[in-house]
Amino acid sequence: MSANLLDGKAIAADLRNHIKTEVEAITTSGQRPPGLAVILVGDNPASQVYVRNKQKACEEVGFLSELIRLDAGVSQDELLSLIDELNQREEIDGILVQLPLPKQIDEETIIERILPTKDVDGFHPYNVGRLVLRMPLLRPCTPKGVMTMLERTGVELAGKDAVIIGQSNIVGRPMALELLMARCTITVCHSKTRDLEGKIRGADIVVAAVGRPNFVQGDWIKPGAVVIDVGINRLDNGKLCGDVDFEAAREVAGWITPVPGGVGPMTIATLLENTLQAAKLHQVS
Ligand code: NAP
Repeated sequence: MSANLLDGKAIAADLRNHIKTEVEAITTSGQRPPGLAVILVGDNPASQVYVRNKQKACEEVGFLSELIRLDAGVSQDELLSLIDELNQREEIDGILVQLPLPKQIDEETIIERILPTKDVDGFHPYNVGRLVLRMPLLRPCTPKGVMTMLERTGVELAGKDAVIIGQSNIVGRPMALELLMARCTITVCHSKTRDLEGKIRGADIVVAAVGRPNFVQGDWIKPGAVVIDVGINRLDNGKLCGDVDFEAAREVAGWITPVPGGVGPMTIATLLENTLQAAKLHQVS
């Protein structure tokens, strides 16, 4: 039996349409559109592609979008001053600093400088803390996007056993908090986890965020499980692939996300969702 495909591209398109309609209503009522400032430091090719996609998405839904490019040699103080300025600007609702940053800059210091209500990536300790306390405000985009996809399956999450492979601050940890909030029983795995395969075999929901091509084998998947592949890996032949052996896993899983066209488009659509949410916070305050 072949799994149902969780089509991130289609769900993200739906979400963007919904956001576009909301933006039209906001501007028709005479209010300004939501505004996102993206800071790109240096010329990392992957970052340039991500930033271009984010900008394009902003323009499509009618947001004000501003790209600020800085030289790779920029100092931490200069970057902090720019963030202070963007924190003050009324037409900017969201500030996104594209990671990774060059070595001379401490990422945590930069993230902490962003006003929490403009932290549309959801990485500020204030926003992470709120997620821990089950009172989320701006939530990290990739895990929140995964939750939107899980909702679309119609699968009841409460009581399910969820295994997350990867414990990073941007994916694994917030993913665990999201699934816990949905009342799953969670297991977070990492490179020191013993019997990873056994843990995956028992999981109703598997979220793979490892960064290793085809790492999760098809025969590790429990029949009918929901498999979410966050991994984006570029193979030597230039093709993208996920962390899960898709062809083998789709024969066993109940639901599965493809790579590309799964979690990736959802992350960008969720960034727009967060920016709209931030704009609403700013316009009422
Ligand atoms: P990361 O910070 O490198 O974290 C990888 C995690 O995998 C770590 O926790 C690591 O464990 C764990 N790991 C490594 N080898 C393992 C093994 N053999 N067994 C079990 N766990 C192992 O990566 P990330 O930033 O979370 O990203 C993960 C993947 O998702 C990457 O491919 C990235 O490109 C992709 N990604 C996609 C999106 C999207 O929008 N689709 C967004 C963000 C990231 P330790 O902690 O013990 O080292």
